[in-house]
Parts: sequence; C-alpha cells; structure tokens
Amino acid sequence: MKYIIVTGGVMSGLGKGITAASIGRILKNKGFNVTAIKIDPYINIDAGTMSPYQHGEVFVLKDGAEVDLDLGNYERFLDIELTREHNITTGQVYLTVIEKERRGDYLGKTVQIIPHITNEIKERIRRVAKKSGADICIIEVGGTVGDIESMPFLESMRQMHSEEKAENIAFVHVTLVPLDTQGEQKTKPTQHSVKELRSLGLQPDAIVARCKEPIHPDTKSKIALFCDVPVNAVVSAHDARDIYYVPTLMEQEGLSDYLMQKLKLTPKGAPPEWDELMRKMSAIDKETRIAVVGKYAHLGDSYISINEALKHAGIECGCRVKIDWIDAEEFEKNPSSIDTLQRYSGILVPGGFGVRGTEGKVLAIKYARENNIPYLGLCLGMQLAVIEFARNMLGLKNANSSELAKTEHPVIDILPEQESIKNMGGTMRLGSCEAILVEGSLAQKIYGSTRLAERHRHRYEVNPKYIPMIEAKGMKFTGKNDHRMEIAEIPGHKFFFSSQFHPEFRSRPGKPSPPFLAFVKAALG
Ligand code: GLN
Repeated sequence: MKYIIVTGGVMSGLGKGITAASIGRILKNKGFNVTAIKIDPYINIDAGTMSPYQHGEVFVLKDGAEVDLDLGNYERFLDIELTREHNITTGQVYLTVIEKERRGDYLGKTVQIIPHITNEIKERIRRVAKKSGADICIIEVGGTVGDIESMPFLESMRQMHSEEKAENIAFVHVTLVPLDTQGEQKTKPTQHSVKELRSLGLQPDAIVARCKEPIHPDTKSKIALFCDVPVNAVVSAHDARDIYYVPTLMEQEGLSDYLMQKLKLTPKGAPPEWDELMRKMSAIDKETRIAVVGKYAHLGDSYISINEALKHAGIECGCRVKIDWIDAEEFEKNPSSIDTLQRYSGILVPGGFGVRGTEGKVLAIKYARENNIPYLGLCLGMQLAVIEFARNMLGLKNANSSELAKTEHPVIDILPEQESIKNMGGTMRLGSCEAILVEGSLAQKIYGSTRLAERHRHRYEVNPKYIPMIEAKGMKFTGKNDHRMEIAEIPGHKFFFSSQFHPEFRSRPGKPSPPFLAFVKAALG
C-alpha cells in the first residue's frame, strides 16, 4: 500500500479537499486504483448532527454514513463509493479507546495519547486502506497544522512515516502564497507553516501552493530552498476556472511524475474518461439558468452536491448551468416577488430540515406547477410538492408535514417505525435503498429501468392515507419502496419530478445523475 498524506497550512478553506481529490485523480489517470480517507479532528462522531451552514453540506454515503463534504469530492473525482470508515474523527477514535479501556483491553496500563490513541488511528487507516483493495490511499488531515486538535493525527502520521518504507509514504503540504499590495508573491506564510510541520517531525515531499495567479519560477525556487524540497516538487495551484481542471493543472506541473518517482510506481494503462470529460467541458457552448430555492441560500457550500450534479448534467448537454441561489424566505416576505421565477428555465427545491423558508418554497413549487416550468424536488422538495398539491388541487387548505406544523391533514408524516427513534445521531432513514418504478412513468424513462437504488436522509414520508386522493387529482407516485413513496411526478407537465431520495450524491462528472440530466434537458427545451 502506498500512502499519500495531505496536510494544510496557513489557513483553512484553501481547497485541501479538492487538492487531495485531484492528486488521487492524476494517479487514477495513470491507471492506479486509488482510495481516500478524510480525518476530521473534531470530537463529533460524524457530521450528521452538524449544521450545514457552518460546515457545509452533510454528505451521505451508500452505507448511510453522514460524513464531511470532502468525501463527496473524493467520490466524484475518483468515481468510487466509500464507506463510513473512510471518515475518521477524534470522537470515533476516543470512543473506541475508552470502550477498550473499560473492557480491560489495556491490561491495567495508563491509557495515553501516545501510544493508545495514535495506535488506534494508525490501525484504522491501515485497516481501511487494505480493505479497499486500492494501490494508493490518500489521507487528508483536516484542519491546519498547529491546531491543537490535529496533533494526535499528525503524530500518528509521523509514526507511520518511520514504520513504512520510504517508497511507501509521501507527504504533500498545501499552503497559500498571497500577493502583497504591489502584487508580489509572498512565501513567508508557506515558510512558517512548513517550519511548524517540521517541528512536529514531518518533512513535506511536495508543496502545493495555492495562489490567485501562477506561481513564478523564482517564487518556486525560494519555497524550495527554504522548505527543503526539490524545485519540481513545488506545485503552482492557481485558481482554476472549474475544480475539474485542477487535476490537469497538477499534471502539467509534473506532480504525478514526481509522486510516482517518489513512491516507485510505474504507470499502468490509463483510463480515457478524464480526457473525455475535459473535451466535453471545453465544448460547452450554451447556458441555462436554474433557480435553486433554499434556505440561507447564499451559502453554496451547503448544497455542493446539487451544484455539482447540475454541472455534470450540463456538461453532458454541452451547456453551462448558471445557478441562482434564491432565499425562500424572500417569497414569504414579499409574495409578489415570486414572478422573478419566470426568468428561469428550471426550478429546484433541495432537501432541508425545519420550518424556516418552507412556505416560500411551497410558493415556488406552485409557480413551477402552474407555469409549466421544469421542476426538480429533492427530499423536502418532494414533500413540499405533495403539500402544495394537496393544498391547491385537493383543497386541503392546511395540509402540511407534521415536522413543520400541527395540522389536521398531515400529508407528510412520520411512519410508526421511525417514531421510536429518539437519539439525534443517525436516527433517520439513511443510505442506499431500492425503489420499484411504475412501467411507463417519467421515472422509468429517466432511469431506463424499473428499479433504482439511491441514497436517503430523511425521517418523514408521504402519508399513505392521502395517496388515493392525490393520485385521483393527477400527481402520481411512480417510485415505491413497499409502503414508502419514493417519487412523485405530474404527468402532462413539461417536467415535474421529485424524489424522497437524494440523487445528487451519486452524480459524477461524466456520469450525471439521471434525474438531473433529464431536468437540465427539459430546461433546455
Ligand atoms: N426534513 C425532511 C425529513 O426529515 C426532509 C429531509 C431532507 O430533505 N433531507 O423527512
């Protein structure tokens, strides 16, 4: 097994996740089988209980794990499916060590960060890497070097470095090269952060320097000299037009050759998909505008998978999808502003929790339905479509979800089996579940099959009691998992498709999610 450890310095938000994913991709492009692990030094067991408005989207894996959004980047860049063990948090490590201590596994020893916590970390990494069957495992250490929380993880990496053969482990450090007021590229923050790293006993093999503009050769030389790396190991990671161009940039900077040399790897036959993707991206010649009506909608990071899924669908159609993130509360405060939606070729309502903004979303869905504008509803976006339909087509004026209000018509309700769950961590219907699709439906046409498996993250469901009434008025449930409704569509509408699951999590560049592709096609007319 070859390990590539990616650390970060100077500040957070440099795109360390994209860098890690891109390093994986350039090596996958050389024919290697690559997997990835994200270390999150927070105490939470997983990202399930964390606010997406603080940490960005909670990504859901097929096994139902609720994880950091970087795992979404790995899945998309590497076209792989990961499991919960690929996201290691401080909370998980301590929980295991404390449980072992209580069981007496440490035979009366004093349990300490070194060696007990660090051993647990190393064991987890090696176990996951081995189980994946990959040639190369990328390990991204979250946070910034020097953070108190990351210390045990960096110490574990130091130990791995001395335990593994030199040709089996490489360190890549991601830093920032800011420009001063004269526009000069400054290397001091990089020097300091490498110094910090070295004080922990770690020496980077390569430095990926983020910068607004390409790093000059003399800036590279300076970094090489001060940080003790060869000059060809200093990689200019300047802003790219799109994240999917980052691997190409790193390839051009010679990073894959450098890493293969360091890790004594000889390239195998390369898969052509990435070149094909680059070709499609450069052929884009049209644009379509989509409104995503959400909550605190200015924070695109909380809907990153939706953003990417729309992009993937757009690339396939040769079109750039221009997304406007619209705050649903705007429509509540000022209902006449709903007419601004006429500018869009498609309207999307994403998933969400809690009542905030939901009435505005209902207005947007009504607008899409009545004005024959393509509509894609995801999870809460399907529940609200059912609510809107019940209110305005069935005349159940106060139809609602029991999550959102006390109502005599809970068209969306909690099913008895879900009710028993009280603890807030992982209490939802999570992960990949199958649905059976109705023959001849839009759903079946979109998926080209009568079965699908997509990822879920929700507690509430369409209330079976209301299904006959709703279907009699023209909204059809065309995807089902037993008594759970998975898809609601309106035949005769230009495009009205909504799902209880989240298709965005399985979308890949070059392999767009079927509902997203159909939605963008419908938006293009
Ligand atoms: N809040 C809704 C539920 O729990 C929808 C969840 C979602 O959109 N992910 O069922």
